[in-house]
Amino acid sequence: MPIRLPFLLLTIAGLLLGGCSTLLSGPDASPKPVRRLVFVTVTPTPTLALSEGSRAAPVSPIPTPVPAPYFAAANELGKVMVLQYHRIAYPEQRFQRSPANFRADLQRLYNEGYYPVNFIDLVDGLPNVPAGKRPVVITFDDSDISQFTVRDPGIIDGDSGVGILMNFHYEHPTDWPARATFFILGNDTNDYRSIFGQPKWVKAKLHFLVEQGMEIGSHTVNHTDLSTVTAERIHWELAVSKQVLESLVSGYTVRSLAAPYGGFPFKADFLQSGEWGDLTYRYDANAAAWGGPSPSPFDPAFDPYRVPRIEVSSLWLDYWLTYFQQNPDEYYISDGDPNRITAPTPPAIAAEQSD
Ligand SMILES: [Zn+2]
Repeated sequence: MPIRLPFLLLTIAGLLLGGCSTLLSGPDASPKPVRRLVFVTVTPTPTLALSEGSRAAPVSPIPTPVPAPYFAAANELGKVMVLQYHRIAYPEQRFQRSPANFRADLQRLYNEGYYPVNFIDLVDGLPNVPAGKRPVVITFDDSDISQFTVRDPGIIDGDSGVGILMNFHYEHPTDWPARATFFILGNDTNDYRSIFGQPKWVKAKLHFLVEQGMEIGSHTVNHTDLSTVTAERIHWELAVSKQVLESLVSGYTVRSLAAPYGGFPFKADFLQSGEWGDLTYRYDANAAAWGGPSPSPFDPAFDPYRVPRIEVSSLWLDYWLTYFQQNPDEYYISDGDPNRITAPTPPAIAAEQSD
């Protein structure tokens, strides 16, 4: 009688970095020397409130989540979707998701057992995903104003990307944390217009994201295709954008980036670390611009500097969500224990056990 081990439990001494990913670094952020950059003085961080957006009236009842039977089996070698959004506005078109569709995306992800994490959490080995949940990463490129709009006197527009995310989080406080990653265009002109389009709110917005537990990453200074420029320019783009963001949110360490257009430098090492003038930089991960679902961080095929993403449109999001409904054993399902990697038994080992 063949005996099949249902699961192979791989125990490792500790995850790559262990514990929670460090969103707020320690207070070691002594001011770094800045060359060529002049930073404007911004008024102290105001507190932002949140409008309810177009969902405010009337509120339709939230569909009851459907528990699916496949939640029972953990598979921490399965795929993970990293979703790529750009603008959140009407009408729906390429690089622009409508607010209504973005809300519907969150609702469907929630109903199907997904759980949001930051991009860097994936690279850190998904330490905080509850048992039975399927991690998903929501990313935004280009720091467009529609991703984070603030109305005077400090109300977040409920139809902007952050407004929708926060309202969805408040509706599901325990099982939909406020997690998303914003790949932001740095700025060397000191007007900060490239960072969500409202210079007077730039500090308040970035602080708000970090305080809520979301992630800020770099998208270079000038949206430069790093595959077409010199080493010096690459180093400038990566060093200055990181420096600008970290100077706006003191104590925060930018760890990830998304190279525009998915353009890889002629030397891949340039994404990891380098220096420009007095500035040095280091990134732990890079999000690609395409490529479908990502391998698990525990899959040998996982490369933190080439993490594939799915550009969100109705067509492609529906395609992949349907695919993983029909092939649930291919998706990452957490065992809830950050010190253990649980995965189904590989066929070769199952065969050995049956002897
Ligand atoms: Zn971009």
